[in-house]
Amino acid sequence: MEAVKKLGKKTMYIRGSPSTLIYLDEKVYVVDPGLGSKRAKKIRSIIRKLNKNYVICILTHYHADHIAISEKIKPREIWVSEKDAPYVEDSVLRNYMTYGYAFKSADYLLYNAPDIRVDCKLKVPYRINGLDIIPLPGHTLGHVGVLTDDSVAYLADSFFGERVLSNVGIPYYFNPFLALQTLDYIEENIAVDYETIIISHGPVLSKDECKEVISKNRERIVKIVNMVLEELSKSPKNTMELALKILNRLSVEANHTLLMLSNVFLKSLLSKLEEQGEVKLLATERGLVWKKT
Ligand SMILES: [Zn+2]
Repeated sequence: MEAVKKLGKKTMYIRGSPSTLIYLDEKVYVVDPGLGSKRAKKIRSIIRKLNKNYVICILTHYHADHIAISEKIKPREIWVSEKDAPYVEDSVLRNYMTYGYAFKSADYLLYNAPDIRVDCKLKVPYRINGLDIIPLPGHTLGHVGVLTDDSVAYLADSFFGERVLSNVGIPYYFNPFLALQTLDYIEENIAVDYETIIISHGPVLSKDECKEVISKNRERIVKIVNMVLEELSKSPKNTMELALKILNRLSVEANHTLLMLSNVFLKSLLSKLEEQGEVKLLATERGLVWKKT
């Protein structure tokens, strides 16, 4: 298998989950290096062959699988959005934000990564030479995408490939309503202007394929919102009961990691539905439960 695929004059792509983007200018930009010592070795060897000694690492968001080897690829600078920076720098805060718990041990977590130094906290949108770093909030609040002047868009975890959707059932969005707005933005703008679209967990997409995968992600979020409202009109439930019902209806087997991650999505969704007057929170013998109004 080819280690690096050229996508444009200046842009390369390394397959993986997450995938990594490399953009070559007078400096080398590495977007989302990923995790694992093998991956770090591979990226270092690619950088060596490029014969440039100034490497800038851009992180699209703070999740451990995207950032774990950032310092291991020896960049001069590490960039991340201002909003996501605290959770790149502090692994305890990161786990708390990602899962709702501050676990240090890897037992309950999907991935683990150390504290990572941040050299530049970006106010986005941010433009540098041939790169545009744009806000794509939803998956995390400070999530960004990176657009290149040779028509490649690296959109990270703003949406997911079909295999991820069917494996996890409830895709991870810190704020699903913001994610829906971001999906509209991508469909109306990026999927029109850019030839090649890359997500971190899924295939390389053409414009048309991108639109199709976006629809699947949108449909999934809307389906979950409807399932939540349906389940709550049958009887009040707490977020864990809701997560179990929905995963079951989507034929996905629950495990502790998936339940913790689903819980974050559902709490965010329910707080928005509460704001809209659709549900309300009750303190009962079973703990906090949500009731349809
Ligand atoms: Zn992520």
